[in-house]
Amino acid sequence: MAEQTDGFRVPDSMRAWVLGDPHELVFTEKPVPAPGHAEVLVRIDAIAVCATDLEVIAHGPPALIEGGLPFNKNFIPGHEYMGTIVRLGPDVDEFAIGERVAVEIHAGCGRCKRCRAGMYTACHNYGMNYGDRDKGHRANGYTTDGGFAEYAVNNVNTLVRVPDGVDDAEATLIVTAGTAVYGLDVLGGLIAGESLVVTGGGPIGLMAINVAKALGAAPIVLSDIEDNRLEIGRRLGADIALNPRAVNVVERVREISGGPGCDYVMECSGAPSALSDAMSMVSRGGRVCLAAFASQPVTFDAARLVMENIYLFGIRGEGRSAVRRAAALLGQGRIAPSLLHTHTFPLDEVPTAIRYAREKIDGAIKVVVGIREA
Ligand SMILES: [Zn+2]
Ligand SMILES: [Zn+2]
Repeated sequence: MAEQTDGFRVPDSMRAWVLGDPHELVFTEKPVPAPGHAEVLVRIDAIAVCATDLEVIAHGPPALIEGGLPFNKNFIPGHEYMGTIVRLGPDVDEFAIGERVAVEIHAGCGRCKRCRAGMYTACHNYGMNYGDRDKGHRANGYTTDGGFAEYAVNNVNTLVRVPDGVDDAEATLIVTAGTAVYGLDVLGGLIAGESLVVTGGGPIGLMAINVAKALGAAPIVLSDIEDNRLEIGRRLGADIALNPRAVNVVERVREISGGPGCDYVMECSGAPSALSDAMSMVSRGGRVCLAAFASQPVTFDAARLVMENIYLFGIRGEGRSAVRRAAALLGQGRIAPSLLHTHTFPLDEVPTAIRYAREKIDGAIKVVVGIREA
C-alpha cells in the first residue's frame, strides 16, 4: 500500500469487472494502474451504464482490444464514470490531487490527420495502443481498461472538472450531455428560435432536448414509443411530445411547421424507419444528425436529400470538447440530467445494473453504479 502526504491511500490492487465470453462479466482483482506521461489516476466514485456497454458486453464492437474482439482479454468495460484524482503523472500540473472530475471517452493519438484537426473521436489510430503498434490512442472502456472498477488512468485531455453542487451520480451523466452538445454543435450550434425534432427518447435524445432548450431552440418536438420517456422529455423542455404508435409523426411535424417541415432532426432511436422519416420531416435546406444507428442497413429517399439540399451528419462520441461545454451548462443550472437517473446499484452488483439497463426494468433509463455513495 502506497501512501503520499495528500491523504489518499492507493492500494496495489483493486476490484474490477472484466469481460469473459460474450455476456459474461467476472468480478476479479487487477493491479491499480500507474499514471504515465500526461495521465492521472482517478479513483472511480460512480459510473453510469450506457447502451454502448450493452453492445460491447454482448457483441464486442465498438470495443477493440489488441486489434480484435474484447472477449477473454482481461479487459474492463464501462466508460461513463466520474471520480477523484488521487495520483498525478510525473509531468501533470493541469489538475491537482483531490479534484472531482468527469471523463470524456476518447483520447486521440494526437498524431493522425483527424486528431490534428481536433476530431479526436474520429482518430484514425483507434485501438492502436498495443505492442509495437502503440500510437498512444486511448478510449477507456472501448480500447483500454474502463470504469467498472475502483481506479482508472486517464489522459488529462479527457478530464472535465465537476461543477460544485453536482453529486456523483449526476456527474456521470455529463458525458451523455456532451454527446448531445456535440450533435447540436454539428447541426449548426446557434439553434435559438430554430425548430428541432428529436426522434428517440433514450438518454442521448433526452439530453438533446434539454440542451436544445437551454440554447433556445423552439419549438422542440420529441417522438418516442414509451409514454414515461415522453413525460420526462416534457419536463426537460420538449414543447410537443408525440408517440408514433398514436400519431403520424411526419405529418404532425409538417403541420406544426406550417408546411415545410422542421429545421433540424436529431435521430437518437436507431429505428429502421428513422432515417427515412427524418428525411420526410426536415425542411428544404435543413439538417439531420444521426446519433444512433440501426442494426441493419436501411433505405431512404436519397434523391430528396439532393433535390432539397438536405445535410446529413453522423456523430461519433462526444467531440470538439463538448463534454466541457456540457459541464458548463450543468454548472449554470441550465440542464438537469439527474431526471434521467432512475436506479443505483453498488459495484458488486454490476451485472444487475446491466440487466436493468438492458431490459428497461422498472422504467430504467440511466442506471448508475455508485461506488462511493451506494
Ligand atoms: Zn456511453
Ligand atoms: Zn488520432
